[in-house]
Amino acid sequence: MTPRTAGTIHFPADAPDSFAGRLIRWQLECGRHSLPWQGTRDPYAIWVSEVMLQQTQVSSVIPYYQRFMASFPDVASLAGVPVGDVLTLWSGLGYYSRARNLHRAACVIMEQYSGVFPQDAATLQRLPGIGRSTAAAIAAFAFGERGTILDGNVKRILARYFGISGYPGEKSVEERLWQLAESLLPAEESNHQIVVSYTQALMDLGALVCARSRPRCQYCPLQADCIACQNDLTADLPVPKPRKTLPVRETVHLILLDQERILLKKRPASGIWGGLWCFPEMSVDQDSIDYCEKNLHVRVTKLARLPHLQHTFTHFKLIIQPHLLQSIMHQPVCEEKCEENSYLWLTIEQAMQQAIPVPVRKLLSMAYPYFQYHIHE
Ligand code: SF4
Repeated sequence: MTPRTAGTIHFPADAPDSFAGRLIRWQLECGRHSLPWQGTRDPYAIWVSEVMLQQTQVSSVIPYYQRFMASFPDVASLAGVPVGDVLTLWSGLGYYSRARNLHRAACVIMEQYSGVFPQDAATLQRLPGIGRSTAAAIAAFAFGERGTILDGNVKRILARYFGISGYPGEKSVEERLWQLAESLLPAEESNHQIVVSYTQALMDLGALVCARSRPRCQYCPLQADCIACQNDLTADLPVPKPRKTLPVRETVHLILLDQERILLKKRPASGIWGGLWCFPEMSVDQDSIDYCEKNLHVRVTKLARLPHLQHTFTHFKLIIQPHLLQSIMHQPVCEEKCEENSYLWLTIEQAMQQAIPVPVRKLLSMAYPYFQYHIHE
């Protein structure tokens, strides 16, 4: 990466020592300049990266982003495939509503905007899955629009810099942070380069310096007047989310083996893991043999109970009890009797290629030794 110098930038009305000025200088010298989605003004490419980066770290996003852009290089190619293809590429990245919204928004752009990407934050915000901060980031990077971003990283920086006591997810605290973020923007006459550098600087500072734990204040351009740093409050700010015990739900996942194949079921489009492929599921008080005969029309014997798996969603914890079963008389009637394409018998390798959530991927790995044993029996 070639370091850039502040000498390449012209600060209009901003004093170079203002909040924005210091950040821009720091970004040019120490920020990130060679991420795969940088150096482009293509709003589509920027949008995909911004959505992937929500709730996911850069290092995890990079391979997904590259595969996604190779498969769907523009909005038309994304809108032109079934959502299942998008979910398949997204498999393992989590928060699947992001993928469904990307696909929905691509369809909206094709249908309502004749395939032309909206060019301002206000219009971008009307698309599915694009919130205020994401819209501002896309508009800044693609069109040089001077707008406020306020993602988790920026909230953390501002909460520390201004010494805000209050959980940033609380409405009043969040409103205050939006106001502060707005007040810190570079001057109105800022050119595209300044807007891009400033927006990127906030993201980079949050990721590289003002980290959640142990911020590296000695390298921070805001150190001199940061309230948290000056008052030894970095461990206390931002104020964490008030602790709430999540309710626990339990379920049984049925892993059915039939010679070299296992059974997967497509989940309904809405609800958890919407549109993804999972194992058939039943409640913990049902009998698995009975359930398989009545609902899947498959006669089975029990093979094993695998160790349970815990998965935490935003609003609850899910405990999955996996039951491993062997089909003794495979009747492919479930493919015919159930809703079209909602069940598939697949090899483990084929199953791994589908759009499956992380716990299902883990369960497939756990079942693999049994699977090997039974097909070679
Ligand atoms: S000085 Fe430290 S706490 Fe303050 S913004 Fe910089 S890194 Fe964060």
